Amino acid sequence: AAKAAGKSAYRTCTPALRESAVTRAELIADLRRAVDEKQLELEFQPIVDLDTGLVRSAEALVRWRHPRLGLLSPGRFLPLAEETGLILPIDRWVIHEACQAAAVWRHSSPDATVAVNIAAAHLRRPDLIATVTGATAAAGLAPRALTLELTESALIEGSEAVLDRLRQLRELGIRIAIDDFGTGYSSLSYLHRIPATELKIDRSFVARLDEDARAYATVNMVSTLAEAFDLRVVAEGVETDRQHDAVAAIGCAHGQGYLYGRPGSLADLRSSFPGS
Ligand code: C2E
Ligand code: MG
Ligand code: MG
Ligand code: MG
Repeated sequence: AAKAAGKSAYRTCTPALRESAVTRAELIADLRRAVDEKQLELEFQPIVDLDTGLVRSAEALVRWRHPRLGLLSPGRFLPLAEETGLILPIDRWVIHEACQAAAVWRHSSPDATVAVNIAAAHLRRPDLIATVTGATAAAGLAPRALTLELTESALIEGSEAVLDRLRQLRELGIRIAIDDFGTGYSSLSYLHRIPATELKIDRSFVARLDEDARAYATVNMVSTLAEAFDLRVVAEGVETDRQHDAVAAIGCAHGQGYLYGRPGSLADLRSSFPGS
């Protein structure tokens, strides 16, 4: 009976397994070519100053225009990129492009800044500093116009060498944001060690602000913490007027989310926020 069950399980599982294996292998092969074949694109999402309504910063988010599958979001291909190490050339491309875009934006908005997401693997690389300074120099961009977004988990696995690297970047003027703040195993002690300039409150807390007193307390606490540490705070994932009102009442200085603008071209961002 066990044998029969094994056989039928084999029969029913194999096609699906084979298909997903092929798709995965193909995707990896395709991803290897994506950078060289210029299939990656950046979108920019506005980060709004909640006092003035002005936009002086934006987050660069990568997309992959796959020749057959269409526009893929990072969730579809970044995990594969991380497994295969392809995340390194992708992130390098992103840093480079984001600096170029920031430089153009700053012609009309001299204090604008652009944020890029940095994978954990990149943080562990000594050449991260050379990559970043190379990109700002090539774009003629002031280092203070670039923010690196790092997740708590990437930081927590970070060694003393990683912290050193971040301090060096910070000394050069590069800004450092802790992304998705509150979702990792954050020990408050690491806030003292990481030379951060900014906390981004994860959107899972913002989403539950209305109905969950603990989510409200979390946003409130992070906001208070940010003030005490002299860090800029951004509430992520603001989708409704009620959420906007709540984060503004709590005292978050900045917001990011579909309510203000979805990721899009920098030109679109600038036309929907006059004065940006
Ligand atoms: P993240 O850095 O936390 O970026 C914010 C994500 O939330 C983006 O998803 C954005 O489109 C989405 N978002 C913004 N506002 C809202 C909202 O109001 N509601 C909802 N439901 N979602 C909102 P996206 O572009 O799919 O990126 C997902 C994640 O992929 C990013 O999360 C980041 O961790 C990673 N990522 C994106 N681009 C890059 C990149 O160039 N390099 C690396 N290493 N990671 C990247
Ligand atoms: Mg981010
Ligand atoms: Mg985030
Ligand atoms: Mg996120």
